[in-house]
Amino acid sequence: MIGRIHSVQSLGAVDGPGVRFVVFMQGCPLRCAYCHNPDTWDLAGGTETTVEELTEQILRYQPYFGVDGGVTVTGGEPLMQWEFVVELFAALKKHSIHTALDTSGHGSEQAIAAVLPYTDLVLCDVKFPTEEQYCSLCGGSLQTVLSFLERTVKHKNDVWIRHVVVPNLTDSNDNLEQILALCKPFTNVRKVELLPFRKLCVEKYQALGIDFPLAETPACSAETLRILQSRLPLF
Ligand code: SF4
Repeated sequence: MIGRIHSVQSLGAVDGPGVRFVVFMQGCPLRCAYCHNPDTWDLAGGTETTVEELTEQILRYQPYFGVDGGVTVTGGEPLMQWEFVVELFAALKKHSIHTALDTSGHGSEQAIAAVLPYTDLVLCDVKFPTEEQYCSLCGGSLQTVLSFLERTVKHKNDVWIRHVVVPNLTDSNDNLEQILALCKPFTNVRKVELLPFRKLCVEKYQALGIDFPLAETPACSAETLRILQSRLPLF
C-alpha cells in the first residue's frame, strides 16, 4: 500500500500521550481559517511511501516510546487516505505500538468504520460550536463531527477533544462553554486540550500564493490560554 506523506516527526511530544512518532498525511477536505498546514491540503502532494517503509522507520524509534508513547497519524486529514492508515495501524498493532488518529472527523462511512477498530486514541478537533461558524470558517459540518464522535463511542475509542483558541473568534468563555457542552454526552472523552492559535504558518501561505484569512489576527497569548485552561473540567 502506497500513501502520500507530507512529513514525519520522529520524537513528537504534543500530539497525544508520551513520546510519539508523528506522521503528517497529505490531503484535506476542509479549509480552516486558522490552518497551520496549508501545504498538506493537496492530496497529490507530498512523497509516496509504502506502509512497509514507514513501519520500518517507526520501529527504529520504538525504544523511545516508553509506556505512554506511540504513533500519531495527522495531516491534513488522515481519513482521506484511510486504506493506508488501516494498513499502517494494523502493522503497528502487531508490534504492540499505541496508535492515535488526529482527525476532524470528516471521512467517509467506510473510512471511519475501517480505521476506528485499529485506533487506540482519537484526537478530534472540534473547531467551532455552531454549524454556521463551522461551515463558514472551515468549509465543513459540525454535525459531521458529532456523528463521528458517536461512532467513536460505539467503537469504544478513547477520545481527546482539541480546540484551537483564536483571538476574537474562539477565545471567549461562552465559546468554551459551548464546546464543552457539545462534548459532554460523549462518555469516552478523556481530555479536552486547548491549542493556541499561532502565526508561524504565514510564510507557508505566501509561498503557496494563498491568502491567509487570519493574517490580521494576533496569536493567542499565554495568559488567555492559561485563563481558559483553568476553566476546563478534570477528567
Ligand atoms: S482540518 Fe487541519 S489540515 Fe485541514 S484545513 Fe483544517 S486545520 Fe488545516
